[in-house]
Amino acid sequence: MNEQSTTIGEIEAAIRTIPDFPRPGIQFKDITPVLADPRLFAGSVRLLASSVGGQRIDTVAGIEARGFIFASAVALQLGAGFVPVRKKGKLPYKTLEASYDLEYGTNTIEMHVDAVKPGSRVLLVDDLLATGGTAAAAAGLLAKLGAEVVAISFLVELTFLNGRKRLSGYQVHSFIRY
Ligand code: AMP
Repeated sequence: MNEQSTTIGEIEAAIRTIPDFPRPGIQFKDITPVLADPRLFAGSVRLLASSVGGQRIDTVAGIEARGFIFASAVALQLGAGFVPVRKKGKLPYKTLEASYDLEYGTNTIEMHVDAVKPGSRVLLVDDLLATGGTAAAAAGLLAKLGAEVVAISFLVELTFLNGRKRLSGYQVHSFIRY
């Protein structure tokens, strides 16, 4: 086993599954034990940063809230800036918003209109890919702002929800799959 596969195995072992959180029927993947371990946190950030294979990245966009934690560290590792993709009503300046369907109702996310420069090369990061609705909406916002979404990277992917389907056309990376 190489160093990377050892790290992936250790990260997977540290992720806790909490049944019926926040609602009955959801198997919540709790990544806080990964963050609490400096080696696993650093390993996760290295994996996410490696997903662009050395291509130039100007900006790493992180999705609220757990995506922020990884994305800001990945940005530092890649020598890129960080921009937040937030839930509606949290950003203070002028925003562009995108809504997407949830199982019940809709959700809206926002970015500042000047978060990225047109033509900038962006890596979009979140902790986990489930149905792909959030990441698809975030990638759509980035495209509207004129950015090039070089890749979308997640630490964890719930493959049985087919989130990748909603992200077709993008380079999608994940490291731990359920
Ligand atoms: P989705 O838009 O369905 O891909 O949902 C992705 C967002 O919801 C991510 O920001 C995740 O952090 C969160 N999420 C969805 N399902 C889970 C889960 N089972 N465990 C942990 N986080 C989840």
